[in-house]
Amino acid sequence: MVRLVLFDIDGTLLRTGGAGGKAFECTFASEFKIPRATEGLSFAGRTDTSLVGECFRQHRIEATPDNFRRFFDAYVFWLDHWLGQLDGGVCPGVNEFISNLERLPTPPLLGLLTGNIRLGAEIKLRHFGLWEVFESGAFGDDHEDRNRLALIAQRRGRQRLGGRLPGEHILVIGDTPLDIACANAINAKVLAVGTGGFSCEQLGTHRPTWVAENLLKITPSELCA
Ligand SMILES: [Mg+2]
Repeated sequence: MVRLVLFDIDGTLLRTGGAGGKAFECTFASEFKIPRATEGLSFAGRTDTSLVGECFRQHRIEATPDNFRRFFDAYVFWLDHWLGQLDGGVCPGVNEFISNLERLPTPPLLGLLTGNIRLGAEIKLRHFGLWEVFESGAFGDDHEDRNRLALIAQRRGRQRLGGRLPGEHILVIGDTPLDIACANAINAKVLAVGTGGFSCEQLGTHRPTWVAENLLKITPSELCA
């Protein structure tokens, strides 16, 4: 039985219309005077802290706690700004899927497993009315390595739920091969959805437990038995 469901955010729950990338770019331009700092950077499935660290290295900015703080203080401002400007949206089937999860005879705990820093996750999800849904999770500022985030999310889930929480009682939902790897790191079940940048065929080659075009195409009762 699945007791904890962990959702990725970008490309799984919602699309920001590029607000995250724009916020990164504007922050590097405004705070560090580096234009187009994120050119050539691959965002999908990565943690915010590892992305910033890579940009710092590329542009020879010292990766000090002060510089990270300076980056993220400006980033959340720009993120909020761009979310209001660009056309994002909730991915197909998300609201229905969550309602169906909550209506299961024994509803699982809902959490987040995301590379977004916590405040970035909150800003994105609040913008689309989804923040209050999630009671637990792990975020990009908990650890730079996404696979370690899965362990943190599992530990926090166990603290909330009590008792044992082995991987087979956890379902991870994500849109990239890195989400599948992250679920594998804790032996969790994983549903890969084709609502981000990867097709179902591409995701299928990474052997998720299930793959679906979007969350309208699959019901929680199929996954949580
Ligand atoms: Mg994603």
